[in-house]
Amino acid sequence: MRLFSIFKDILGNLVKGPVTRNYPAVKRAPFPGERGKLVIEEEKCIFCGMCARKCPSNALKVIRQPKEWHFEQFRCILCGSCVEACPKKCLKLLPRLPEE
Ligand code: SF4
Ligand code: SF4
Repeated sequence: MRLFSIFKDILGNLVKGPVTRNYPAVKRAPFPGERGKLVIEEEKCIFCGMCARKCPSNALKVIRQPKEWHFEQFRCILCGSCVEACPKKCLKLLPRLPEE
């Protein structure tokens, strides 16, 4: 019985295509709603610092004078708190593109 099941799997796999992808030649498209990277439209930013205050991992630093907005990507856990907190809606979490 077990042998029959093994042959069934072998024959099935011979007929079906591969379940893996030939990475990096073939890259998958991002899943819908995937959070890959934080981006800012800096021209809309008023440097209020709300995003930095809400960030749980201290990935953001906002300086009012001179106007500077700093982001440490490797501290970011992509939680989206800063995006929700921003009063000017200038932050977005976008999917990372396959070539990035
Ligand atoms: S997504 Fe979360 S962890 Fe990343 S910068 Fe925004 S608040 Fe901080
Ligand atoms: S919350 Fe928005 S407007 Fe305020 S500093 Fe952060 S990015 Fe700029």
